Amino acid sequence: MGETNLQILLARRPTGAPQESDFRLVETAVPEIGDGQFLVRSHYLSLDPYMRGRMNEAKSYAKPAQLGEVMVGGAVGEVAASRHPKFRPGDKVVGAFGWQLYAASDGVGVRVVDPGIPLPAYLGVLGMPGVTAHIGLLDFGEPKAGETVVVSAASGAVGAVVGQIARIRGCRAVGIAGGPDKCRYVVEELGLDACVDYKAGRLWEDLSQATPQGIDVYFDNVGGEILDTVLRRVNPFARIPLCGLISQYNATEPYALKNAGALLVNRVKLQGFIVSDHLPRWKAALADLAQWLSEGKIKYRETVAEGLRSAPSAFIGMLSGKNFGKQLVKLI
Ligand code: NDP
Repeated sequence: MGETNLQILLARRPTGAPQESDFRLVETAVPEIGDGQFLVRSHYLSLDPYMRGRMNEAKSYAKPAQLGEVMVGGAVGEVAASRHPKFRPGDKVVGAFGWQLYAASDGVGVRVVDPGIPLPAYLGVLGMPGVTAHIGLLDFGEPKAGETVVVSAASGAVGAVVGQIARIRGCRAVGIAGGPDKCRYVVEELGLDACVDYKAGRLWEDLSQATPQGIDVYFDNVGGEILDTVLRRVNPFARIPLCGLISQYNATEPYALKNAGALLVNRVKLQGFIVSDHLPRWKAALADLAQWLSEGKIKYRETVAEGLRSAPSAFIGMLSGKNFGKQLVKLI
């Protein structure tokens, strides 16, 4: 190939917030492909909060990453060479190619995508985060027109799609996000009815004002104090799709909910879910998302870091909200 591969490995398991020294950049040979394999040159790497969980040793819904292994991650790129009957050189593909420039793949879990759409969309609104929003809100949140839907991390990859689907379904949609810029974007660009800046220090007051009829669906991306505060405003028979707990991923002490009693008193249905458990639902969800995107009903925003070397710092920044929309790394 005449080129070398760059890879980022897990060098150390973090305690609390990850440090750049928890990662190691290495130069290796571009992988050789065997029969039934193809070589992908990734163009964009997706950075996602779940990767923080994979850095821990603890048992979870997925196996932890091993020390010295390439960090796991979704990426979108182009087939550079192929000995696989279904993938041809030049095909644009999305898959779990990891934090590296080149990957050898056997095609499992890889989708060929439409090159007419900007490739990064397949890591966001037309990929795993978009499907997470769709399944989480519609299957587990079961929103009905006229109900109030609240979503946290509302300007992010998942949250932005949740809020816009809630509007499409005729709900009052209220975001929760960190800072005035993100809140302005959520209301003015994404079209939500209101957005509460949880960093302004008046979460309960502002949330109460934004949800005069209480809360029927809370799509939780963050857990912790925000979940606890929302529980004080839920209506009878509210639904809470529990999608993520990002406020806890770097925590060394667990947050103890004070208002869990509201779950019983209001007969709330709280359901944790993991998008990869629902593969049969992906096709229909992606079709809806593509349709809404083409109709201009869904907008999205991206933060793009330049070059694989910048991935660790971009990842660390995303966990504390430095990203604005889907966090990507441009590799080419
Ligand atoms: P985002 O693009 O939303 O980026 C993360 C955002 O989280 C930050 O921008 C920040 O926004 C917010 N955040 C960080 N720390 C805190 C905090 N302490 N309190 C409140 N908000 C915080 O990421 P994604 O859209 O990719 O992911 C959102 C959530 O969805 C995550 O919890 C993730 O783990 C989960 N997820 C779950 C899946 C599943 O299958 N269950 C699949 C995909 C994602 P701000 O500046 O507004 O605080």
